Amino acid sequence: MVAGRQVARVGLMGGTFDPIHLAHLVTAEAALEQYQLDKVIFIPTGLPPHKQDHPVTDAEHRFNMVTLAAAGNERFEVSRIEIEREGPSFTVDTLEEMACRLPPGSRLYFITGADAILGIESWREPDRLFRLCRFIAALRPGIPVERAREGLRRLEERYSSRILEVEAPALDISSSDIRRRVTASRSIRYLVPDAVEAYIRKHGLYRSG
Ligand code: ATP
Ligand code: MG
Repeated sequence: MVAGRQVARVGLMGGTFDPIHLAHLVTAEAALEQYQLDKVIFIPTGLPPHKQDHPVTDAEHRFNMVTLAAAGNERFEVSRIEIEREGPSFTVDTLEEMACRLPPGSRLYFITGADAILGIESWREPDRLFRLCRFIAALRPGIPVERAREGLRRLEERYSSRILEVEAPALDISSSDIRRRVTASRSIRYLVPDAVEAYIRKHGLYRSG
């Protein structure tokens, strides 16, 4: 906890991370800095409820890649909370469990890209989600800024909760694009940390699309 402050401010970033890439990391770092968070915990999903239509890489590989990417940043942590839970991963369950595990009074901030939070009404129990944490949204290339902001304001009104915006450098990187590049034997250098690139090569991930 930052010296002199009584309440821990903990950022959580959930994702499939198939694989984790530099936009995830730069967004987490920007949120940490802008909102004086004590740490950011990356939470790779176990079985993502909304991605059951295409096969997701084994959770252990995704967890290992997130761990490699987070190494070296003393404020980044990785949690197995969703990987170890049976069945599909619901963010509301994760937030409740996190709230119980962290010191009483900790404040939770859930960091998401605008695409994710704009779809939040299809998540389980959005009302409760907004009560359990404060959302920090990153605009993301591909969604026009005005449309994203309009959507965020609508959610703020509906759930009587402020959504914070993080000023992170916009990087048009996605895990889907990285997977496609590997399948097509194209470079992913500078899109993922070197250690993640080496891990993908070593384990032959994404080669067959
Ligand atoms: P996929 O292409 O497989 O959907 P992704 O790149 O969107 O992968 P996810 O694991 O789905 O990555 O996303 C985890 C979180 O990171 C989500 O909240 C998502 O909005 C956010 N995120 C992903 N890419 C970016 C980006 N380029 N800029 C800002 N936020 C991002
Ligand atoms: Mg995504």
